[in-house]
Amino acid sequence: MALVFDFHQGNKDQKDLLGGKGANLAEMTNLGLPVPPGFTISTEACRGYLAGDGMPEGLAEEVDVHLARLEEAMGRRLGAAEDPLLVSVRSGAKFSMPGMMETVLNIGLNDESVAGLARQSGNERFAQDSYRRLLQMFGATVLHVGGEHFSAALDEAKRAKGSDDDLDLDADDLRQVVTVFQEIIEKQAGRPFPQDPREQMELAIRAVFDSWNTDRARLYRRQERIPEDLGTAVNVQAMVFGNFGMDSGSGVAFTRDPASGNQGVYGDYLQNAQGEDVVAGIRNTVSLADFEDIDPTSYADLLAIMARLERHYRDMCDIEFTVERGKLWMLQTRVGKRTPEAAFRIAIHMVDEGLIEMDEAVRRVTGDQLAQLMFPRFDERAERTLLATGMNASPGAAVGKAVFDSDTAVEWAERGEDVILVRKETNPDDLRGMVAARGILTSRGGKTSHAAVVARGMGRTCVCGAEALDVDAGAREFRVRDGETVREGDVISIDGTTGEVFAGEVPVSDALVVRHFEGEKVDDDLVDAVGRVMAHADGARRLRVRANADTPDDAARARRFGAQGIGLCRTEHMFLGERRALVEQLIVAEDEESQHAALDELLPLQRQDFTEILEAMDGLPVTIRLIDPPLHEFLPDYTELSVKVALAEQDGGADQRDIRLLEHVRRLHEQNPMLGMRGVRLGIQIPGLFAMQARAILEASADRLEAGGRPLPEIMIPLVASVRELDVVKHDILGVAEEVEEQRGVRPEFTVGTMIELPRAAFLADRIAGSAEFFSFGTNDLTQMAWGFSRDDVEAAFFSRYFDHGIFDVSPFESLDQLGVGGMVEMGTEKGRHTRPDLKVGICGEHGGDPRSIHFFDRVGLDYVSCSPFRVPVARLEAGRSVLARR
Ligand code: PEP
Ligand code: MG
Repeated sequence: MALVFDFHQGNKDQKDLLGGKGANLAEMTNLGLPVPPGFTISTEACRGYLAGDGMPEGLAEEVDVHLARLEEAMGRRLGAAEDPLLVSVRSGAKFSMPGMMETVLNIGLNDESVAGLARQSGNERFAQDSYRRLLQMFGATVLHVGGEHFSAALDEAKRAKGSDDDLDLDADDLRQVVTVFQEIIEKQAGRPFPQDPREQMELAIRAVFDSWNTDRARLYRRQERIPEDLGTAVNVQAMVFGNFGMDSGSGVAFTRDPASGNQGVYGDYLQNAQGEDVVAGIRNTVSLADFEDIDPTSYADLLAIMARLERHYRDMCDIEFTVERGKLWMLQTRVGKRTPEAAFRIAIHMVDEGLIEMDEAVRRVTGDQLAQLMFPRFDERAERTLLATGMNASPGAAVGKAVFDSDTAVEWAERGEDVILVRKETNPDDLRGMVAARGILTSRGGKTSHAAVVARGMGRTCVCGAEALDVDAGAREFRVRDGETVREGDVISIDGTTGEVFAGEVPVSDALVVRHFEGEKVDDDLVDAVGRVMAHADGARRLRVRANADTPDDAARARRFGAQGIGLCRTEHMFLGERRALVEQLIVAEDEESQHAALDELLPLQRQDFTEILEAMDGLPVTIRLIDPPLHEFLPDYTELSVKVALAEQDGGADQRDIRLLEHVRRLHEQNPMLGMRGVRLGIQIPGLFAMQARAILEASADRLEAGGRPLPEIMIPLVASVRELDVVKHDILGVAEEVEEQRGVRPEFTVGTMIELPRAAFLADRIAGSAEFFSFGTNDLTQMAWGFSRDDVEAAFFSRYFDHGIFDVSPFESLDQLGVGGMVEMGTEKGRHTRPDLKVGICGEHGGDPRSIHFFDRVGLDYVSCSPFRVPVARLEAGRSVLARR
C-alpha cells in the first residue's frame, strides 16, 4: 500500500487516509481549480511513525519519487541555488484541529537559494522576508526554539526602524533579521539551521507527525472527542507567495456567514502577507468587499470558485486562498464549522435553494445544537469576573442573589427576588429551594448528582461540583479558593452551559426557540427553520418520546414540547415539605394503627397529585413509579439528632419523642444508602405504602374517568431484582384494584411493570417479563450497578484521570456505555420480548435525552425514550436523525 499520493490521485471522501486538508486539496485539484501542485503523506504513514521508532520503511523513497514529479511539473528543483522550488509542509488530520498542529512554509530556502529567489523574482525584500519566515517557523516547530525569541528580535528590528509595521522593514533590515534568527537557532537549539533542502523537508515532516502528540493537541482531541489513534496526514505543496508585494496577499473566506447562516460571502484579506498572518492579527485585515476594490479580478475569480464549491459540496465551505501577483490560488477548503443557529438556517436555505433534500437537512443539524438554541444565554460581549468553573450540569444562564438554604430561597423568591441556591450538595429536601431558585450551584457531585438530575428535569440552570468553592452554609457564605468571599445576598451569575461561575450580574438574553415550543407565535426565520426541521424529524422517527415529569406543570410543558406521555413520574418528591412528618410517622410507627393513620392522611394528598398529572397528560400513558429513595432521606440527620439528644440529656433530660426517633434513625442508618432500603425493598418492608400509592393512582383514574377524561396510568415498581419481589407487590396492587372497582363501580385501565435497573434484572428479564407488563430501563442505576460507581461521588472524584487515560471519553452517566450497560439493555429487551412479544420497553435514565444514546436505543428496538421536558425536542430530533442516518 502506497504511503504518498499526488493531489490528483485522491478525492474528498478519503479523509481517513489523506486527512481533511489532503482530501479536499485533491478534490479541488480534480475540479480543475487553481491549486498549487503537491502530494499528501498518508495518516497511515503517521500512524506507522508514531507506533515505532523512525520513519516507516520506504517512505523516504516514495517522497523522493513524488518530489521529483513535483519538480518536473514546476520546472524547478527543491532549494536549487539559481531558481529554487519552495514547498510548504502542512499537517492535516481527518478532523480539523484548528491551530493544534504544525505547518512550515518556504522549505527549500538557504543562504544560497535566497539569493536565487531574489534574482528570479527581482524582489530582494520578498526573498529575505520568506527566508526569515522559514527560520522562524522551522526554529519553533522543528527545533523547538521558543517563539518568543523570534518575535522579540523582530520587534527589536521594527523598533530600530521606528515603526510597528513589519511592512516597513526593507530588504536590508530583513537580511539583518535573518542573521539574528540564525544566531538564535544556533544558540537555543545547539545546532545550525540545516542548509540541505531535503533535510529541511524530512525534519519538517517528522515535526508534523510529532505534533500529533503535543499536549494541546491531546487536550483538543479529548474535548472534541476525536480518537487518539487517527494520526495526521502531511501535505507537501509548491509554495505560492502572498508576501510578494502589495499585489499579493492571503485570505480566508466562508461561502455563507458562519455565525448567522445568512447568505453572502464573509472573509478577511491581508495584502502582502503569508500563512497565519491573516488570523494572527499582525496587521488589520480588510473585508472581502475591500478586497474587491483592491483586486477586482481575483475577487471575481474567488466568488466564482466559492459558488462552484458550494454547489459541489452542497454545503457551506470555508476557504484559504492566496493571491500571488494578481493570480488567485486555492490553498484549502472544507465544510465549514458554524454556530447552532447558522446550522439550522443553512440547512433550510439549502433545501429552498434545491441543493439538498429535507432528509439531508435533518441529518445536518444535531440535538446538541438545538439544545444550545433553547438555553437562555449570557451576553458574551459583557464584562465578567470568573470565580470558578464546575461541571456544566444543566445548561442555561442564571443570575441571582446567593442563598444557602431552601427556606431563604423560597422566602426571597416569594418576595420577588431572583436567587441562586448554593449548597455543598443538594438532597431531596432542597427541592423547594431548587424550584424557587433561578439556578443551583454546588461544590460537590457530578452530572448525575441529585442537584444535576433534578435541575435538568426542571430545566433549571445548574453548575455542580465547583470544587474551588468552599461552601459554608452555616456562615451563609462561600469562599473561592485563594480568592474572595461571596455572602448571602451577593449577586452571582452561573452558566450551566459552560460550568462557569461569575461574580455579579452578567446580562442574559432569551431563547425564541423555547417561546416557539411553548406555543407562542414567534415571527422569526430561525424559529421557522427549527420548526420545519422538527416536523420532518417527527415524520421520520420510529421511537416515541416521553418525559420525566413529576408535577402537573412539568407534565403540561412536556406535552407542549411534544412529549407522547410520561415515562417516569418520580413520586418521592411528593412526600417532602409538610408531608414529611407523615412519612416519619409511618416509618417510626410502632403499631399498625398509627401506620394506617399516617397512610390515611397521605392518600388524599397523593390522589390529588395523580389526578392533576393524569389530567395534564389526558389520553397519553403516564408511568408512575412507586416511591424509591433511600429511607433515611425522610428521617432527621443522624449526627444532628444525636447531638441534640446528647445536649438535652446533659441539660437534664431529652424529649421522649426525640429519644425514640433517634433509636429508629440509628437502626435505619445505612453505610450505602444507594444499596440499601430503596425501591421495592421499601414497598415490601412497609406493605401499606405501595398499596396506598396504588390506591391513590387508581382512585385518581376513577375520578378522571368520571370527569370524562382518559387516564392511562402505568404503575412501575423500582429496583426489582427478582420476579418474586415484583409478584409480592403486584399481588397487593391487584387486590387494591379490585377494591377500587368495587367501591367506585369502574375499573380504570392500568398496567403493572418494572424498572430494569439492576444487572440481575437484566439477566433474568425473561422471567421478570412473565409478571411485568412493561419494562423501563433505569440506566442511571444500571450504570452505577454495572460499573460499581457510586453515581453521586465518582464523577468529581476521579473521572478526570479516567479521561486522561482514555478509559472513557465521556462519563457513562452522561452518554450510555453502549458495550457494557447497553449490552444489558439489549439483552434485557430481547429476553423480555422472548417471554412477552408485545412487551412495551422504554428507558427513563438520564441517557434518554442524550443524542448518542438515543441512536443506540433506536437501533436496539426500544419503544420509547423518556427524558426531562426540556430535552423532549432534542430527543424528537435525534430519534428522527437516527432513522435518517440509516436511510
Ligand atoms: C434510573 O436509575 O435510571 C432512574 C431513572 O431512576 P433514578 O434516577 O430515580 O434512580
Ligand atoms: Mg433508579
